[in-house]
Amino acid sequence: MSLPVEITLLGVGSSGGTPALGCTCATCTSTNPKNKRTRASAVFRAGGQTFLIDTGADLRQQSMRENLLHVDAVLYTHPHADHLHGIDDLRAFCWLQKAALPVFGNTLMVEHISSRFSYTLLSPNNFWDKPVLTLNEIGDAPFEFGGVTITPIPVLHGKWPIHGYRIGNAAYITDVSEIPEASFERLHGLDVLFLDCLRENPHPTHFGVEQALTAAKRIGAKRTVLIHMTHELSHEALSARMPAGIEVGYDGLRVEI
Ligand SMILES: [Zn+2]
Ligand SMILES: [Zn+2]
Ligand SMILES: [Zn+2]
Repeated sequence: MSLPVEITLLGVGSSGGTPALGCTCATCTSTNPKNKRTRASAVFRAGGQTFLIDTGADLRQQSMRENLLHVDAVLYTHPHADHLHGIDDLRAFCWLQKAALPVFGNTLMVEHISSRFSYTLLSPNNFWDKPVLTLNEIGDAPFEFGGVTITPIPVLHGKWPIHGYRIGNAAYITDVSEIPEASFERLHGLDVLFLDCLRENPHPTHFGVEQALTAAKRIGAKRTVLIHMTHELSHEALSARMPAGIEVGYDGLRVEI
């Protein structure tokens, strides 16, 4: 039997979120809660560990909404602002846990956190009023944390080499424009795949609808959930076009495998 994993999508929005500020399009003015998208992030729970994927700009509100009170480690995909700038909100978990929080990312990630958020790498004071992080640089090789195997999925986000992640038979790939051949090998036998689908048309650094569907079909997960969408894609209209096994994600979606 494969490892049980419970995933909660904290946010499925693109960098600007949906609704987009000042926009009056049909998606942005929709009353369907599935068209309210905060910045992309997810929680994976497996083997008694709680992994946060990215610290999106809406992390505090997402944590309140989902009653997320404990995080064991953060797995970073890449250092764009929409995936990183909630880093200051990690202070709440450090305060609750009175412990430093391990975070993992590739070389690019480590460079950006060290230079842009160096204050998060200081020793804790008595107040735990800042995030206290231990920064772990990872390569493409699978690694263990708390007895759970985490498999990085190397993908390209434009020219940037970034990471998706696989835990058990669940994988999360956001902000992708190309999946290298070797990474497809790491995506066999998935029960669920969360996959970037920015907008209708291709984008230099993201999959559009057609590319996401092509990759999803090739990977062949039992269930594929599209994430990281702009307001161009309305939940209802996109859902109506999806083939069997592919669905449109929304904030708060919970999947258990
Ligand atoms: Zn993004
Ligand atoms: Zn709009
Ligand atoms: Zn990005």
